[in-house]
Amino acid sequence: MASIISGTAAAEGLLADLTRDVARFSQVHGYAPTLVAVLVGDDPASHIYVRKKIEQCRKVGMESVEHRLPADCSEEDLLALIASLNADERVHGILVQLPLPAQIDSGKVLDTIDPRKDVDGFHPVNVGRLSTGTGGLVPCTPMGCMILLRSVLPDLKGKQAVVIGKSNIVGKPVAMLLLEQGCTVTVCGRHTRNLAEVCRNADIIVAAAGTPHLVKGYWVKAGAVVIDVGINRIALDDGRSRIVGDVASDEIGHAAAFTPVPGGVGPMTIACLLLNTFRAAEAQSVVLA
Ligand code: NAD
Repeated sequence: MASIISGTAAAEGLLADLTRDVARFSQVHGYAPTLVAVLVGDDPASHIYVRKKIEQCRKVGMESVEHRLPADCSEEDLLALIASLNADERVHGILVQLPLPAQIDSGKVLDTIDPRKDVDGFHPVNVGRLSTGTGGLVPCTPMGCMILLRSVLPDLKGKQAVVIGKSNIVGKPVAMLLLEQGCTVTVCGRHTRNLAEVCRNADIIVAAAGTPHLVKGYWVKAGAVVIDVGINRIALDDGRSRIVGDVASDEIGHAAAFTPVPGGVGPMTIACLLLNTFRAAEAQSVVLA
């Protein structure tokens, strides 16, 4: 019977460790690691995400500030705000909640964030560092995937890993992290032929396609570990809806372990954001003897 890798439990453990580390940091430096979240417009989902991130920050003892800009704000105004946050040494992490309104070029905005404060890990400098294995801030969801994977498979060297999905925020960075750990990695997208066949050889499957129940039981080799990143809302017959992952989890009892949806990768993402903020604060703070 496959074991379930609880992201909820792992995130709780990570946040407990972080609470202790943040308290020590604040005592040594006289200030807490500080995250600024920038929210543009009125998208209700974005408001919920930002509120959750801010609440979690405060729970672990970090400072957290929210900057709200109107939906019709200009790109220039947003870039000016980011420049001022870059220059503010009391700010250690900057997060711009996506998506941004159409009049704003998201790429330009993300490129403007100081890479040392880029706690989402989306800045090209951090992407480059990840792909060259030279440190930097790693995107939160991929980091969460790796922590969960390594909780059941500490040594990844020589494993065959298949990543389904090649987005810049999940698929590609996960593939880089797997490569870094010694896996042989196949990255698949919409145009991949015989996806089932490709998956059947895998010791590890990371599913990040955003397609409900894409990965069927017969795609999964006995003893494989499956990390399900997907968050898909599906309609039920009674008119209600439910969140499901990219994996038909009730068909993979023969796997060694898998992450559930919900309660798997999801809770790790915010925990890793806070971890990045702490690491960014540490890297920017010098103790004067
Ligand atoms: P995306 O739409 O940017 O990328 C999806 C990728 O999957 C693309 O590369 C596409 O080519 C590939 N793909 C789509 N359908 C496919 C198919 N049938 N076969 C093979 N490849 C296919 O999505 P994303 O932002 O990378 O997110 C992926 C999923 O992960 C979504 O469900 C999203 O909600 C979820 N997600 C979860 C978290 C979390 O915290 N758990 C964070 C980010 C994203």
